[in-house]
Amino acid sequence: MSIAFIDLPAQQARIRTRLESAIARVLDEGAYIMGPQVKELESQLAQFSGAKHCLSCANGTDALQLALMALKIGPNDAVFVPSFTFAATAEVVPYVNATPVFVDCLPDTFNMDPESLKRAILHARSEGLRPACVIPVDLFGLPADYDAIMAIARENDMYVIGDSAQGFGGMYKGRMTGSIADVTTTSFFPAKPLGCYGDGGAVFTDNDEVASLIESYRVHGKGSHKYDNERIGLNSRLDTIQAAILIEKLALYAEEIEKRQVVAKTYNEALSAHYAVPVVPEGLVSVWAQYTLLLASEADRAPLQARAKEAGVPTAVYYPLPLHQQTAYSAFPQDPAGLKVSEDVAKRVLSLPMHPYLERDTQEHIISAITP
Ligand SMILES: *Cc1c(COP(=O)(O)O)cnc(C)c1O
Repeated sequence: MSIAFIDLPAQQARIRTRLESAIARVLDEGAYIMGPQVKELESQLAQFSGAKHCLSCANGTDALQLALMALKIGPNDAVFVPSFTFAATAEVVPYVNATPVFVDCLPDTFNMDPESLKRAILHARSEGLRPACVIPVDLFGLPADYDAIMAIARENDMYVIGDSAQGFGGMYKGRMTGSIADVTTTSFFPAKPLGCYGDGGAVFTDNDEVASLIESYRVHGKGSHKYDNERIGLNSRLDTIQAAILIEKLALYAEEIEKRQVVAKTYNEALSAHYAVPVVPEGLVSVWAQYTLLLASEADRAPLQARAKEAGVPTAVYYPLPLHQQTAYSAFPQDPAGLKVSEDVAKRVLSLPMHPYLERDTQEHIISAITP
């Protein structure tokens, strides 16, 4: 039995003919850049999430950078980011000449710890930085604690950018990611819950000025026309072919989110007696970008991974090292109390195969392969 960690072919098989005609239409029409499918997708995504504006772009990293640029974050600004995340969340901050300040995560949800954020804000101020923005991440598909984080942001006159690269479509107390933070970003990298067949990303906001600035920045800072550059921008557009593919995939997405709940529930029921299974706080819905166990000790991980591999079950570690412990990021400021939870969980997390098309018998095999 060969088991996929994420089974993209199963999804493709469902809609292969529709994908082929959608791609063929782009080839027939020839509008490879900013074709009509791009606008169509943006309007469907805005409607899906409840955000007023959706602007697509080249990838989820650019989406974060565009958000920072549109919020006018720059030199002397502190941008608070989790350390237990993918590098892109922090990487974009030095791009705009601001300083990333690392915040610890909570031990149960792995999302940003609001108490650590408060300490990091005080610390940044004492270092002479202006607290300007916080970027909570919807890690593994679970929305961050937006009520707590937005309250702290408001008290400190900071913006909130939700990095929902893994969490687009997740729900926080009746609202979907995309319509919660001041600006939300996502990624359409193929392995994300809503992925295309290449790179892609999007920014969501209700703020008209932010939306119009992003529209300009993503095309070289264009003004009223293409050769009138009002500001220094970048080249960050979503390809028409990828938009056409995403329109077909978005049509399945609500149903796929439901299917992911069933898979997660089956794992939870079978594994909670043996491992710390993922925690989803009351009122939140995860889109399960990853299904991540927290093992009792660091020493358990390698043997369990080896046992799973023996049984043909792929596993993965997201993420083995928090950012503040990595060469490129170790010199940036952090919560002065340290990032002990991030350092600890990085040694003990283990992610299992997770996708909407995981068949029951395959999942039973995975479960028995890792049950002690
Ligand atoms: C994938 C990811 C990104 C970056 O998305 P790309 O499309 O790969 O640039 C940013 N933040 C998080 C948390 C991610 O998982």
